[in-house]
Amino acid sequence: MARAEAERLAKSVPREPYYAGRWGVVRSAAAFDVVDPVTERCLATVAEAGPVEVDEAVCAARSAVADGTWGRIDGAGRGRLLNRVADLLEARSEEFAALESLDVGKPWFEPHAIDLPQAVRTFRHFAGWADKVTGRSIPTPGYMGRATVSYTVREPAGVVAAITPWNSPTMIAAWKVAPALAAGCAVILKPPEDAPLTSLLLASLIEEAGFPLGAFGVLPGRGPVTGQLLVDHPGVDKITFTGSPETGHKVAVAAASGFRRTTLELGGKSPQIVFADADLDAAADGVAVGIFANQGEVCAAGSRILVARAVYEDIVKRLVTRAHSVRLGDPFDDGTTMGALISARHRDRVSRYIAAGLAEGARLVTGGGQPRRAGYFVEPTLFADATNAMTIAREEIFGPVGTIIAFDSDDEAVAIANDCDYALAATVWTSDISRAHTVAGKIRAGAVAVNGWSPLDPALPWGGCRLSGHGRDLGWAGIEANTEEKTVTVVL
Ligand code: NDP
Repeated sequence: MARAEAERLAKSVPREPYYAGRWGVVRSAAAFDVVDPVTERCLATVAEAGPVEVDEAVCAARSAVADGTWGRIDGAGRGRLLNRVADLLEARSEEFAALESLDVGKPWFEPHAIDLPQAVRTFRHFAGWADKVTGRSIPTPGYMGRATVSYTVREPAGVVAAITPWNSPTMIAAWKVAPALAAGCAVILKPPEDAPLTSLLLASLIEEAGFPLGAFGVLPGRGPVTGQLLVDHPGVDKITFTGSPETGHKVAVAAASGFRRTTLELGGKSPQIVFADADLDAAADGVAVGIFANQGEVCAAGSRILVARAVYEDIVKRLVTRAHSVRLGDPFDDGTTMGALISARHRDRVSRYIAAGLAEGARLVTGGGQPRRAGYFVEPTLFADATNAMTIAREEIFGPVGTIIAFDSDDEAVAIANDCDYALAATVWTSDISRAHTVAGKIRAGAVAVNGWSPLDPALPWGGCRLSGHGRDLGWAGIEANTEEKTVTVVL
């Protein structure tokens, strides 16, 4: 789709909150502009949900779960509705991909090849789980000399607030909305202020699919306003959040007030470990994708590149060659392989990290600058001869900036990989199967990939530990995260 057509589409997307089966605001007069990161022009002005809208949305969601039509729909019915969302999303993938490129600034082929197919598969995957949310039968020795039968049932957690980030809004919304709806929860989505358009369009598809009133809502707005009101609302039972550790901490504090459940995915500083026995060409390709895809704005970005000393200079050279082949540009232009960062604020943040890398003595081998043109672009950047103590090796940059560190032994590679506050993902590049399993077993991370960067699949649990958060979004873990297991014991 051409840029002009995508811009027209952006004008036609609903720009208001949706809840209780209707679009619009009741009292809020606030609105915010959504800025195109490439042209720096306003794409749309969106109405913000304030206290009245948040309260009404939560009340509608509560009654949908408790006694409304949503609570009465069985698993097979929920599955049918989720499959309908998947069909509608698939049919309109082209529009969603174009809108996502426009809103986020990423090259058009990325949402086309990754975000949209993943989002569709996620709705289908959880449509499949909806009628398989089963409990367990648990043998026990009995009660006061009498036999017992004990079993568990899984019940919906209740009203789920889903708070999503701007880097892959459609896919991450699907990761949170689909498992919660499959489990029978009502969901209120708070999309990112910088890129809310695809989430609003997704809400219109969920409405079209025929979900009953209150089962799903979307509340656009600023994080400290709408997001905070939502997580503070006592009618919310569970919060699922993806974003920064700082905001994740605020969410956790709000959730603690009512001992409410949370799933927190807070990003990472993921190692990509290249051993000397790896297929170096494949490793260089994979490592480059791992740090440059989506402008490096990826929670699983392989931003710490750990390389065996024997092949260190070779890998550095190969990565520089790959960085030079990146073409920064308009996401809608043929040949563009990297777009713009989400905002001026974020570009400046990434630039401050580049300055810190230079100040702390890392060797800049490519990039580091910003092209002279409109848009929040940063060149693909690589630092070599870095140490794991440097700021660029410790903090999440969330941009196209890779930090390359040498290691001398397997133990040292593992020690560097684990010497990190985050623990979300890791990649191991080796042709030695024994080394692959041994190293994968020793790395502290929610997901380890061998000879491929961060394979995504809705069947695979996704999440991390330490500063990367807790809980898992996908697979059966996504159902567990959105249900309460109740025990029933019958004394015979
Ligand atoms: P935030 O963590 O602030 O935002 C994530 C989501 O939380 C957004 O929807 C945001 O709304 C919302 N939010 C913000 N404040 C609150 C609040 N008080 N209560 C409830 N919700 C809130 O991330 P940023 O967009 O500020 O990005 C900052 C850094 O976070 C990035 O540089 C990156 O390092 C990291 N990040 C990590 C992501 C990941 O995938 N784990 C994704 C995005 C960012 P709004 O958009 O309106 O601010």
